[in-house]
Amino acid sequence: MSLTSVWCEPDLTAQGRQVGWIRVEHSVHRSAYGTIAIPFAVFANGEGPTILLMAGSHGDEYEGQLALTRLVRSLDVSRIRGRILVLPAANLPAVVAGQRTSPLDGGNLNRSFGDHYTDTPTGQIAAFIAEELLPLCDVMLDLHSGGSSLRHLSCSYADLSCDPVMAARTFAALEAMNAPLSWAQAGIPAAPVAGRAALRKGVMHLSGEFGGGGALNAADLNVAERCIYRLLDHLGILEMAAEWRAEIATRFVFNTQAHFTYAPGEGVFEPLAAPGDVVEKGQAAGWIHRPERPEDAPVALHFASDGIVAVTRAMGRCLPGDCLFHLLEETPRAAVLAGIKALK
Ligand SMILES: [Zn+2]
Repeated sequence: MSLTSVWCEPDLTAQGRQVGWIRVEHSVHRSAYGTIAIPFAVFANGEGPTILLMAGSHGDEYEGQLALTRLVRSLDVSRIRGRILVLPAANLPAVVAGQRTSPLDGGNLNRSFGDHYTDTPTGQIAAFIAEELLPLCDVMLDLHSGGSSLRHLSCSYADLSCDPVMAARTFAALEAMNAPLSWAQAGIPAAPVAGRAALRKGVMHLSGEFGGGGALNAADLNVAERCIYRLLDHLGILEMAAEWRAEIATRFVFNTQAHFTYAPGEGVFEPLAAPGDVVEKGQAAGWIHRPERPEDAPVALHFASDGIVAVTRAMGRCLPGDCLFHLLEETPRAAVLAGIKALK
């Protein structure tokens, strides 16, 4: 793959405010020399850290897209110290389709950051972000939600990395974001997600899940904006407004594979727990019904772990293997710090 098929119109070395496009060549029947024009804003003012703010990696996750759109329109560049790169609609074809994946190639941008990039529009976008933008950055904040198929409790998220210095800095930033749930995940993600690319480039990775169910939720948008502006303040890039200053109680959480409940068969999913509920291992989680075979008994579901219900499936019908619940397990702040201290 040649990176010359993707280029950036804003000047990444310039000071001031620029709003333009990253262009990905896309030669098709109706547009032989066409491009995918991905909106990209650059705010630069003097010395200071560089952060990449990204949303729309998944097109059906709206809170981050709107938070960054508002930021692009409202941010006064003279108030910042350092540089803010903004991608409010990172996988643009997915964003305009309102879909998780790109209608052009089926690509899931947040599963395209492996050690090799595919020669598809989604793969080229991932390559440009990882190989051209991340090397300029100190920090990345990637905003997500549950999308169309999942409802997700609002939470901040961080991949702490295996490096003790990076892990301590990342946890401090996560704590500064002060979301109601602060999800600190040890190590480096195994999946080809953006966090893996960020840590590969030595960039602090922060993220968050803010709502879902295929809709924009005002309360989740508020948490997303809280995380953005408190992080910018923590990094010394932009002093936060008074509305974000008051601290709220947060719970530190993590997950393991035992925290997921998957559909064992096809049918209609009836949940017996809602986001925010605290559940126990073995507790009844829900039922799978088969209206198409009314004499079949429903299949009972049980939680495989204790935890806080962070995710429920938002769609009624399910197929075998669909995620129905995802729990997060609370852990003391001291336990997270002890885990970081144990890193060598
Ligand atoms: Zn997402």
